[in-house]
Amino acid sequence: MDQLPVFLDLSKTSCLVIGGGVVAERKIKLLLRAKASITVVSPTLTNAIQHLLDDAKITYLAGRYEPAGDTHQNLHILENRMLVVIAIGDREGGRAIARTIIDAGILCNVVDDPEASTFIFPAIVDRSPVVIAIGTGGNAPVLALKLKAQIEQWLPTRIATLASKAGRWRGLVKRRFSTLRERRRFWQNFFEGPIAEHLLANRLEKAESLFRRALIKEVVPQLKEPGEAYIVGAGPGDPGLVTIRAHQLIRQADVVLYDRLVSDEILDFARKDAERICVGKQAGQIGTTQNEIDQLLVHYVRQGLKVCRLKGGDPFVFGRGGEEVKALADAGLSYQIVPGISAALGCAAYSGVPLTYRGVSRSVVFATATGDDEIELDWPGLSRPDQTLVLYMGVSKLLEISAQLIRHGLSSTTPVAVVENGTTPQQRVLHTNLGRLETDAKNNSVRAPAILIIGETARLGTQFAWFEDNQDLQELTSSDLPWSELSAANV
Ligand code: SAH
Repeated sequence: MDQLPVFLDLSKTSCLVIGGGVVAERKIKLLLRAKASITVVSPTLTNAIQHLLDDAKITYLAGRYEPAGDTHQNLHILENRMLVVIAIGDREGGRAIARTIIDAGILCNVVDDPEASTFIFPAIVDRSPVVIAIGTGGNAPVLALKLKAQIEQWLPTRIATLASKAGRWRGLVKRRFSTLRERRRFWQNFFEGPIAEHLLANRLEKAESLFRRALIKEVVPQLKEPGEAYIVGAGPGDPGLVTIRAHQLIRQADVVLYDRLVSDEILDFARKDAERICVGKQAGQIGTTQNEIDQLLVHYVRQGLKVCRLKGGDPFVFGRGGEEVKALADAGLSYQIVPGISAALGCAAYSGVPLTYRGVSRSVVFATATGDDEIELDWPGLSRPDQTLVLYMGVSKLLEISAQLIRHGLSSTTPVAVVENGTTPQQRVLHTNLGRLETDAKNNSVRAPAILIIGETARLGTQFAWFEDNQDLQELTSSDLPWSELSAANV
């Protein structure tokens, strides 16, 4: 180990920053976050540093710091300093100052010059009171930033709550258990058990009552508590669109019950030892009916397992998440619900179709065009020219959909974007209009999963597209595009 990581309490001493430019500014802000009292020496200051000075957050000595100047004066400036940061943008000058400071026995950092420094600033993950410092000994700062990003993602969102609660309860635990060994055992069980889990899920009351019980009984409830269900939205397909919370809960699960539309990359977030069960509503698979899925969920949670119910898009948008939550609530089991990016939002973004647009569309409606017989929808309400209509599960009913919308007042030239396998490498986008919807979709063999975005803003997708679609279809349809209408469009 070339350097020793330490955590400095700067609130009890003071720091000196030499330099008043933007680099110095960044360090000053960092030191202020650590409650340091700071003196800045510099002939000039950035506006932001000047504001800090105006707000009395720092003190200021105008002028250059002269290492070889009046040593008495310098010694005075250095008195009682725990550390000095040099950010003067002059490598040799910085080094010369650094040598005098190091000789005076004070910690010294020359920004971007680890060799001339006695300490360097790590990359920091700050979820105070939990602080993680990452260093590469100055060898690879970009690697440190990459690791920081990975740790940020991996770290539970409410780790700060967990740590500060533990801090607040430390005294009570100390009073209750006399030996260090007992206390260590208590805390080990605490962090691995349900109290910590409740804290991380923001169920503070539950956590407190369990903690109180644990103190009285002198044992922390073990993991053999009743299980829990996570009703999690996996988004429309791109693994990058899975939320951080969803990712964490998928990783915690003992069992993952997933929909057919959830991709392998997302399933791979699960632990290797987790049981993965496809409950896609397809013939021949487990849980072919919603009722069976509900039962399965309740069954595994009752066994004390963490069960992640992983659903395409958002669980509460045409996802029957409500039924599953009801089954769990009726059985008195605990659950968490994590939203996902619904197909409408994912497909709109990845096809460049804004769902609302000033002066063009002022509302969005999500509807589903499923059902064995005629679709029962409020067609007059859906056929409004100043609204964007997003239809889920509609590909087998295209003729009926366009006929109804046209009958209820929409023009047959109303643009439609059909997005198939949106947000995935297999994404295809068909730009057509209501009049030609069925024919164009048939000619291009459009298949589920696909979403229809109907309304004037759909036209913008031909201009705003950015995601590389499956090229076949783009070529097939580009000759069909109403280019003249597009360039004349007032959007
Ligand atoms: N809960 C999901 C919807 C489930 S219904 C959500 O919020 O997105 C299933 C329908 O969603 C499909 O028939 C299709 O219309 C749409 N869908 C889901 N994923 C899609 C995707 N990647 N591309 C296009 N449509 C998708």
